[in-house]
Amino acid sequence: MTEKSCREIHQMLVDYADGQLSPSQSSEVAEHLAGCRRCSDALKALQRSLELVQVVWEDGWADAQAIHISKRVKTREIPRWAYATAAAVLAVAACWAFWHYLNRPAPQALTVAEIERRITDEGMAARLLATAELLAGKPYAEELVKSQYNYIVERYPSTEAAATAKTRIR
Ligand SMILES: [Zn+2]
Repeated sequence: MTEKSCREIHQMLVDYADGQLSPSQSSEVAEHLAGCRRCSDALKALQRSLELVQVVWEDGWADAQAIHISKRVKTREIPRWAYATAAAVLAVAACWAFWHYLNRPAPQALTVAEIERRITDEGMAARLLATAELLAGKPYAEELVKSQYNYIVERYPSTEAAATAKTRIR
């Protein structure tokens, strides 16, 4: 069982948990899970995250902003598992990002669009970082966490989250 095939399985896990895979793909994943502790642990973690997401939705914590984010995530081709776990920590991360933004010096000569973009970037980067932190230290997620940190640094270079991610990569 190579690392590469585990990575491929990881990418299919959300669809697997959702029952979105074709029967042949689904049995392929099931077969792999039966023989791979790392991947079955990842599935368990994912299922817990999905349960949390459901609780968040049902409690009405997720608002129109969350829908907006899920669209952005799709267009940027972040793996869906990242969105699922990110959504689980959405409430905390969003509050943190907003609080952080409020406590910054008032920006000068910025357009509303620019301010909005920065809030969105900080929030998005903070969510992605929180996801990575949530999975950090779990052996089955090592590669995913590493690529998540790299993604944050590349995509949101000017954010606090990117600064933190940079220290994690080293
Ligand atoms: Zn595996």
